[in-house]
Amino acid sequence: MPMASEWMDEETKLLQDAAARFVAKEMTPHADRWDRQRQIDRDVWLRAGEAGLLLASIPAEYGGGGGTFAHDATIYQEICRAGLSSGAGVCYSISACLIPHYILAYGTEGQKRQWLPRMAKGEIIGAIAMTEPGAGSDLQNIRTAAQAVDDGYRLNGSKTYISNGQTADLILVVAKTDPAAGAKGISLIAIEPANAEGFRRGRNLEKMGMHAQDTSELFFDDCFVPAANILGGVPGQGFGQLMQQLAVERMIVALSATVNMELAIAWTTAYARERPLFGKRLWDFQNTQFKLAECQTLAFVSRTFVDALMTRLLTGNLDAATAAAAKLWTTENLGKIADECLQLFGGAGYMSEYPISRLFADARVSRIYGGSSEVMKLIVARTL
Ligand SMILES: Cc1cc2nc3c(=O)[nH]c(=O)nc-3n(C[C@H](O)[C@H](O)[C@H](O)COP(=O)(O)OP(=O)(O)OC[C@H]3O[C@@H](n4cnc5c(N)ncnc54)[C@H](O)[C@@H]3O)c2cc1C
Repeated sequence: MPMASEWMDEETKLLQDAAARFVAKEMTPHADRWDRQRQIDRDVWLRAGEAGLLLASIPAEYGGGGGTFAHDATIYQEICRAGLSSGAGVCYSISACLIPHYILAYGTEGQKRQWLPRMAKGEIIGAIAMTEPGAGSDLQNIRTAAQAVDDGYRLNGSKTYISNGQTADLILVVAKTDPAAGAKGISLIAIEPANAEGFRRGRNLEKMGMHAQDTSELFFDDCFVPAANILGGVPGQGFGQLMQQLAVERMIVALSATVNMELAIAWTTAYARERPLFGKRLWDFQNTQFKLAECQTLAFVSRTFVDALMTRLLTGNLDAATAAAAKLWTTENLGKIADECLQLFGGAGYMSEYPISRLFADARVSRIYGGSSEVMKLIVARTL
């Protein structure tokens, strides 16, 4: 049975049920193949759009579901709860939760009408390209530059580790439109690969986990972008736009980490109760019970923390530092729990056919992307 949180009401509980059924029918049966092909099938997003499961928190006038972040979080948690956070989950969170809110919050009316309805139908997959080979945490140090020309910009530079990079139809690229102006010279520019001459996708990068999520290099060689593709129409707003949206991104990672803790504990408990060992079961050893009780306590604290912050977010009261603390706490503890649980599986835990093995590998990146644990500590420390 799906678990209900305090921030859920009757409507989101019904949505949870619908999302769980959609995931069981349209995603779970394909998960192993998506892992092998290193990306998920595009057409699942068309079906999710038909089912009303995309852009749930975007107003209906732009094709969305007219809900709140509670609706997004409900659907996203069901994808994660099926053990799919590493593929469909990441794609969903970026394309259906994050990018639409950049467009809704900062886009011009024309940009909203051009992109949001098609994203809601699953026709457009979104990505955000900040990181470069020479700049990740130190975002202000990016080198990708957009030089003003007649009617637009010429973009030069490269990005790396971009989720949905192979599949995206709309990429919000972080670029310097005024290299001398520091943070005030950074803009978000929407690239539509289908008609962007000078844009090239690089490799789909091989990773230690997150196999179903495509992660790519992107290259811009004198790539022309119309001036109308600057998000919001005015250059120089990008850094502020990013900073405002990052709290939600960190809550998305925290939600996923919490669900993955709960999954790891459930899988391990079930395994321990079955596994014969020295004439008993693995579960009968006090060490097993103590380890799992410790894990359960961490998971319970995480769930309580994240659910409380969801309430704050939904009432507009979540600050950046608290969201950073949530990402830090949940992802660091997910790492500990995944390690303890894998240990209880013994050799089986190291075998890819056991989901705990995949969860362990997938979990590692949550302490790095969306802002690393060290960067989260910097943000929290600034409030002290
Ligand atoms: C699977 C995956 C998917 C990703 N998806 C995206 C995406 O969709 N879009 C995107 O733009 N990026 C994406 N990233 C990139 C990710 O956000 C960066 O890797 C991350 O921000 C860290 O940047 P970096 O790799 O350049 O490491 P660096 O910034 O070089 O950091 C190296 C180390 O230094 C530490 N560090 C950094 N600053 C400080 C400091 N001030 N004090 C102390 N220690 C510090 C870091 O925590 C880290 O341990 C993805 C990465 C991965 C692995």
